Amino acid sequence: MSRKVSIVGAGQSGLQLGLGLVKKGYDVTIYSNRTPEQIKYGKVMSSQCMFDMALENERELDINYWEDTCPPVEGLGVTVPHPEKPGEKLFTFAGKLEKNAYAVDQRIKMPFWMEKFEELGGKIIIKDVDENDLEDITAQSDLTILAAGKGSIVQMFERDADKSMYDKPMRALALTYVKGMTPNKPFSKVAFNLIPGVGEYFVFPSETINGPCEIMVLEGIVGGPMDCWQDVKTPEEHLAKSLEILKTYLPWEYERCQNVELTDDNGILSGRFAPTVRKPVATLPSGRKVFGIADVVVVNDPITGQGSNNASKCTKIYYDSILERGDQPFDEAWMNDTFNEYWENVKDVALWTNTLLGPPPPHILKFLGAAAGSQKLADLFANNFNDPRQFFPWWLDPAKTDELIAENA
Ligand SMILES: Cc1cc2nc3c(=O)[nH]c(=O)nc-3n(C[C@H](O)[C@H](O)[C@H](O)COP(=O)(O)OP(=O)(O)OC[C@H]3O[C@@H](n4cnc5c(N)ncnc54)[C@H](O)[C@@H]3O)c2cc1C
Repeated sequence: MSRKVSIVGAGQSGLQLGLGLVKKGYDVTIYSNRTPEQIKYGKVMSSQCMFDMALENERELDINYWEDTCPPVEGLGVTVPHPEKPGEKLFTFAGKLEKNAYAVDQRIKMPFWMEKFEELGGKIIIKDVDENDLEDITAQSDLTILAAGKGSIVQMFERDADKSMYDKPMRALALTYVKGMTPNKPFSKVAFNLIPGVGEYFVFPSETINGPCEIMVLEGIVGGPMDCWQDVKTPEEHLAKSLEILKTYLPWEYERCQNVELTDDNGILSGRFAPTVRKPVATLPSGRKVFGIADVVVVNDPITGQGSNNASKCTKIYYDSILERGDQPFDEAWMNDTFNEYWENVKDVALWTNTLLGPPPPHILKFLGAAAGSQKLADLFANNFNDPRQFFPWWLDPAKTDELIAENA
């Protein structure tokens, strides 16, 4: 008899894991609180730019369907506006990615994956799962995984105070999906703008429900001038507010937006959440165990665009560990060991992301300035987004940063 795995949540991790396991003959049920149509015609949830290592996990499962149609992200650049001369840049650089990144709208990706999952024999149940449901689900399953992202049910997993650097949201977030933006030359890129004391803005090409688009991500320091979405009521006001921010702080980005319009009325989002690490196992009143994956266990601020990347990498580790386990029980010790393997890989990504939420230290500003004069440093910075562990040890060490600059000047 094949082993029964239940997964709550049909997002990046739930579906990637479900598709992988069903292809290996496991009996997999995925619970989703939204139908494929509700996901497709609902609000955007993410900007989901994924780099090559994360995409490789999808290619390995043969579930990476969009590379022929999705406009590629070929590079990544940073611009810092001049603090004293409004409208001028302090410095700017753009690194070329060795392999393209892609940002396929989850509104097309997840419904398609759900369809494929069912075609392969997986079962989907539409249900907003609560703790009582989990009692029934765990009773019928060899392994129950909570892949509910930022859903309220994840609060049943205890916050890990030692591993969580912040206990409140650090950015007011907004997404604006648009058509008609002037493309970046000579290559497409994540155009990342860091406005000290105000926040960040980054933008890159994507494929959405009605074709190619650009995704604008606005990250306002909480309580600052970009924390400004409370009174925005309509999609038109949301677009106007996004453009007003660009006009005020980043005129070169505003310039690219002369002909933009929203992709659709649901191509917008605003909100905030605290970056949090949680303990990986939740125990139900019956004593049965639920195992958390991806954003349930480690959720970072989107400032570095790593959440879907981490979800893919976490899923790969959990998938391999499930296969390796064979017929042995998926007990709490196995869950903790599997999570610890993921934590060893993700802890630097979380640390790097969290440091970017504070003011950049002088050695990092020095590095960014040096990258503006060295294509090698610019390329190195861009490609590290594929595997942010490569930012260490120099990221926290001024002397090592100096060495790196000297080697690549
Ligand atoms: C503004 C913003 C921008 C981002 N940009 C990027 C980026 O550029 N690059 C990147 O890599 N990441 C980005 N992310 C993060 C990324 O989207 C997430 O980290 C990733 O989707 C997490 O995958 P997951 O599988 O953990 O959860 P999700 O993909 O969020 O999936 C969770 C699913 O569970 C469902 N669910 C929730 N509760 C229940 C329940 N009780 N019962 C049943 N179903 C339930 C939800 O409806 C959802 O479909 C961004 C996030 C935000 C907010």
